[in-house]
Amino acid sequence: VLPPKGKPKWLRVKLPTGKKYTELRGLVDKYKLNTICTSGSCPNMGECWGEGTATFMILGNICTRSCGFCGVKTGRPESVDWDEPEKVARSIKIMNIKHAVLTSVDRDDLKDMGSIIWAETVKAVRRMNPSTTLETLIPDFQGVTRNIDRIVAVAPEVISHNMETVKRLTREVRIQAKYERSLEVLRYMKEQGARRTKSGIMLGLGETEEEVIETLHDLRNANVDVVTIGQYLQPSKKHLPVKQFITPDQFNKYEEIGKELGFRHVESGALVRSSYKAHKHIN
Ligand code: SF4
Ligand code: SF4
Repeated sequence: VLPPKGKPKWLRVKLPTGKKYTELRGLVDKYKLNTICTSGSCPNMGECWGEGTATFMILGNICTRSCGFCGVKTGRPESVDWDEPEKVARSIKIMNIKHAVLTSVDRDDLKDMGSIIWAETVKAVRRMNPSTTLETLIPDFQGVTRNIDRIVAVAPEVISHNMETVKRLTREVRIQAKYERSLEVLRYMKEQGARRTKSGIMLGLGETEEEVIETLHDLRNANVDVVTIGQYLQPSKKHLPVKQFITPDQFNKYEEIGKELGFRHVESGALVRSSYKAHKHIN
């Protein structure tokens, strides 16, 4: 573990390139498509887009929660756009996406917490893009099973929900969330017949190795299939500081431990984001 002074060399990334990337970038700009890949300036765009994977955010750009690591704005969200499912499906068609990751802000202000738009979006994408596979990276829906059931019912290939951090730091990192509740959401989805479940954590927020390993155990005990482990980077000075830069060796160690625990896929590395190499996780 190194002190957080300047970025270590393994975090310096090249600008995305490639024919497919350039083509998709042109379409995104032309049609003003809303991908997290571009709005979050993700370092993996060249790679993901080259493989036909992109992440789309639904239910607006303003979140009812205020997680200390997250760059999304907090406040009173916009009203629901019932045409959004069609718009997202069209974006996926225009970009000719093979594997789409859908995610959303948290909508604790809505009675259904956004779960109806979620399900409608999956259905619209399926109708317009029958060969596109889907991952839905969902909120905890406050653990309300009726909302979770709507997602399981439309059967995305992968359903993910991120723990984001270890148990001890959950209050600080995700103030309105609960570690046990998120685990319960993951366990419940699998029990209800979700094909593949997946979760992700970020490192460098002050967690110990022991706590990371404990989290991996907890996820496996909740029958989670896929886990992603990446380096936390501070979106702005107002967000939680980076406490450590995790070395590539340490990421490899977690990958080994994860594999021994029996996860189907473990993506562990500094630049890993929860949708990185997402197309692999359907198998
Ligand atoms: Fe987009 Fe996720 Fe890939 Fe980044 S890791 S480019 S956000 S799909
Ligand atoms: Fe960001 Fe999700 Fe937290 Fe909202 S709930 S602040 S979108 S991480």
